[in-house]
Amino acid sequence: MAGNSLNSVDPEIAGLITAEERRQADTVKLIASENYVSKAVLEATGTVLTNKYSEGYAGKRYYEGQQVIDQIETIAVERAKSLFGVNHANVQPYSGSPANLAIYLAFLNPGDTVLGMGLPFGGHLTHGWSVSATGKWFNSVRYGVRKETGRIDMDEVRALALEHRPKLIFCGGTAIPRTIDFPAFAEVAREVGAVLAADIAHIAGLVAGGAHPSPVGHADVISTTTHKTLRGPRGAMLMATSDEHATALNKAVFPGLQGGPHNHTTAAIAVALHEAAQPDFKAYAAQVVKNAQALADELAGRGFDLVSGGTDNHLILMDLTPKGIGGKPAAKALDRAGLETNYNTVPFDPRKPFDPSGIRIGTPSVTSRGMGEAEMRQIGAWIDEVVTAVAKGDAEDVIGRVHREVSDLTAQFPAPGLS
Ligand SMILES: *Cc1c(COP(=O)(O)O)cnc(C)c1O
Repeated sequence: MAGNSLNSVDPEIAGLITAEERRQADTVKLIASENYVSKAVLEATGTVLTNKYSEGYAGKRYYEGQQVIDQIETIAVERAKSLFGVNHANVQPYSGSPANLAIYLAFLNPGDTVLGMGLPFGGHLTHGWSVSATGKWFNSVRYGVRKETGRIDMDEVRALALEHRPKLIFCGGTAIPRTIDFPAFAEVAREVGAVLAADIAHIAGLVAGGAHPSPVGHADVISTTTHKTLRGPRGAMLMATSDEHATALNKAVFPGLQGGPHNHTTAAIAVALHEAAQPDFKAYAAQVVKNAQALADELAGRGFDLVSGGTDNHLILMDLTPKGIGGKPAAKALDRAGLETNYNTVPFDPRKPFDPSGIRIGTPSVTSRGMGEAEMRQIGAWIDEVVTAVAKGDAEDVIGRVHREVSDLTAQFPAPGLS
């Protein structure tokens, strides 16, 4: 078996991987948290580095044979420090959620208070939401957005912080279409003596590319996934400015939470950080935002109700109530038309999270394919046609036609990393 390819060893899984590759090539992927990694990142992910155990950190490992792994991890760490302008980086967290758990372990005891954005307002589960370990094992307090503006209310954040005296404050989230005001959060955190964690999982690529302000110099610790706008493998990083915070985070990741790091992922993170440091990544980040704004403009012009009225970043959140349809049936119909989105709660959503009022759409993936504003306007028109037809209950013909048109478009814009 040793030398055999996937195709001959396991044709069933090989066939499914090929099918998924074809699906990714043929759909207009508008899921805000996804992207297409480059061939180089993919290649690093599928390597013999997966065979190696390396608990600990470079120069301080618990297993022998780290001559190569130490170099790879050190390069990844140095690239992260240089790209984001931080003094310390840990590239070992398995993903964004474990990275955030490490922040709790580093700075809180069970029962301590955390202030984070509520999930229905755009926060992440790990920011203290009730069903998450972070909401069960810590005393979590949540802020939201103003009903009239759809934007974070910093007066509310400050009032909650003064009332509850959290030890940890999270800013950032998964469905926030507007710029995060890191200095304002830092001021509140300083006032109550809390650690400020900026979770830039969604916007890390925009921060690296200069299309969103950086939390560096404001947040005590920065958490990010590497697989969203940053366009790396599935993984995460924790960054800090002070030695004290960095030491606490390192101990929390290992031995606090994890065993051996995923070295193939570390190598792929290093490659992605190298790519993100190139001049064309700046252009990419700027185009992601331009595309989101063009798409938002097209949708708003077609009567869609955008949370906060538009976007500053890569994502758009829309309430479909005025279109007479829920988010779930809309997302399902769009998917059948080759337009991949996710249904999502909107602030003050009267419906349930599994059947909410909105959908979330993002432009990182379509921008990676080289699409621009003209394509975004076309996509906006397709979204409108499908959603309107589904709301009327007669969508089959429209879905079929849009799917054919979507296929013509995706054929013109090959996705990175796909053959
Ligand atoms: C995606 C995301 C995470 C979690 O990342 P996983 O890799 O899915 O665990 C954490 N925080 C925010 C803000 C995210 O968007």
